[in-house]
Amino acid sequence: MTRRMTEQELLACFDEAVRDGHIFVTYQPKINHATGRMIGAEALMRWTNPEFGMQYPSDFIPVLEKNDLIYRADLAVFESVCRFLRYCLDNHIDPVPISVNMSRYDIYRKKYVEAIEELRRKYDVPVKYLHIEVTETSAIGGMELMSSVLKQLHENGYIVEMDDFGSGYSSLNVLKDLAVDVIKLDMRFLSGNIGGRGGTIISAIVQMAKWLGTPIIAEGVETMDQADYMKSIGCKYIQGYLYSKPVVQDEFLKKMQKLEHEPMKPAMDLITAMDAGKFWDPTSMETLIFNHFVGGAVIFTYQNGKAEILRVNKKYIREIGMNMIEQEILNTDPLLGLDEKNLKIYCDTLERAIASDDEEVCETWRTICSKICGEDKICVRSYIRLIGRTDNQYLFYAMVQNITAEKNRFNQLYESERRFRFASEQANVYAWEVDLATKRMRPCFRCMRDLNIPPVVENYPEPVIENGIFPPDYADMYREWIKKLENGEVDHLEGVIPLTVGRVPFYVRYSLERDENGKPLKAYASATLVVDS
Ligand code: C2E
Ligand code: CA
Ligand code: CA
Repeated sequence: MTRRMTEQELLACFDEAVRDGHIFVTYQPKINHATGRMIGAEALMRWTNPEFGMQYPSDFIPVLEKNDLIYRADLAVFESVCRFLRYCLDNHIDPVPISVNMSRYDIYRKKYVEAIEELRRKYDVPVKYLHIEVTETSAIGGMELMSSVLKQLHENGYIVEMDDFGSGYSSLNVLKDLAVDVIKLDMRFLSGNIGGRGGTIISAIVQMAKWLGTPIIAEGVETMDQADYMKSIGCKYIQGYLYSKPVVQDEFLKKMQKLEHEPMKPAMDLITAMDAGKFWDPTSMETLIFNHFVGGAVIFTYQNGKAEILRVNKKYIREIGMNMIEQEILNTDPLLGLDEKNLKIYCDTLERAIASDDEEVCETWRTICSKICGEDKICVRSYIRLIGRTDNQYLFYAMVQNITAEKNRFNQLYESERRFRFASEQANVYAWEVDLATKRMRPCFRCMRDLNIPPVVENYPEPVIENGIFPPDYADMYREWIKKLENGEVDHLEGVIPLTVGRVPFYVRYSLERDENGKPLKAYASATLVVDS
């Protein structure tokens, strides 16, 4: 009869279960979702009773913990994993690292790490094949105790994985204080609305883990959507039913031989003086500064000509985003919108920043593509600084300004000046333009040369009335013209006006330019000599 065993029944047959192998191990692969390769596996305890059938960890582990027996079961699992790894090595099968769970009650046992070391040596398994999973809740017994156990594990060469991260006990703060090598983020604690708050928390954790240089594994991944989402925010390591349920040793051995293996990516070494931990704490001053005071800012990695954005602040989205949402920005290769010439400018600047260890500046045009707005070209000024590096990967911090409007104004000015110069040299004509909002007038080259008008005339038309270019008896009429243009009452104006003290008759013509809402922008004017025929 298969049924859940009572506490008494479990305790009564525990010795026998350990001795006769009723407690055994199943293996669940950890996969790089980007490459499909296996990066490791987790050893999960199972118990089949000859009479009552399969018992589940959620039922029997609390019983063992309560009765101070869990360490014996955990050591049985550890030994079984060592035996499996020994078998692989003896048979020239390349194994992946296997993670073994350590109960929080094992933390209290002074000799626990010694005990696993003894087993490991007995089977002569290199420590690189064994990872230890500890849970956040282990820290409940005190950070000092936890830290000393982690230190002991590290001294013996074990990679330590933080299990059930995000289960809510203390999360972000624990991470900064505990030296763990890998983070396991359980999707089931954060599931539900990936697009909403759950998603925000997940992506914040993933980005923080990246910043700390800690590889992160998403656990409990059941659907392709979840896996793709995790990959899209930069967490490509996946463990869950999507790839495989925990399977018995023989079946796992087949899977392991079928799939290619790869190691988990090493951590990034930070060379910055900035406190990375504080930087990701949503309540810290650093985050406040990042979001509110520094302008648009982005943190990205750079490796062999490829860049990947890790974090952007709110102002970055406003400056560069062109209506993109943060997710779109994080998914976009920041070098993608640069053409060959601009890419070279940008990459040269990165190289300079690497060499100088100082802030370097560049201006580049890029094409921005958003789902909402389509394509647009923008010009960005970037102040770039190197803040971290590994052997071949660099971490940069860049402050950005969208200077497209500034650039366009300059180009327009340059263009209109060129037009004026051209016009005045070709024809017997004086030309100028009046910015109606600012009452600022810009004359053509000929006006400047022949009539001694400065390049910019403020408070137009008063100065040209004052200096007598427009004679006093035409002053009010001329002011009226400008007012009509300012008010948008007319689109064209023309008439003969005798100019200068010499009262030379000129044919003066105005045409009005309006913005898309019909609001008057600029008036373009020309004056041609009236020739009697
Ligand atoms: P855990 O360490 O977080 O292990 C992951 C659990 O999630 C496993 O449950 C695994 O079968 C399950 N899982 C994996 N992928 C999925 C998925 O896609 N969907 C769902 N719904 N579940 C998934 P399991 O094997 O029942 O173990 C439960 C817990 O019991 C473990 O949680 C761990 O805390 C504990 N445990 C298991 N083996 C050991 C062990 O050898 N020693 C100790 N101390 N605890 C163990
Ligand atoms: Ca685990
Ligand atoms: Ca877990």
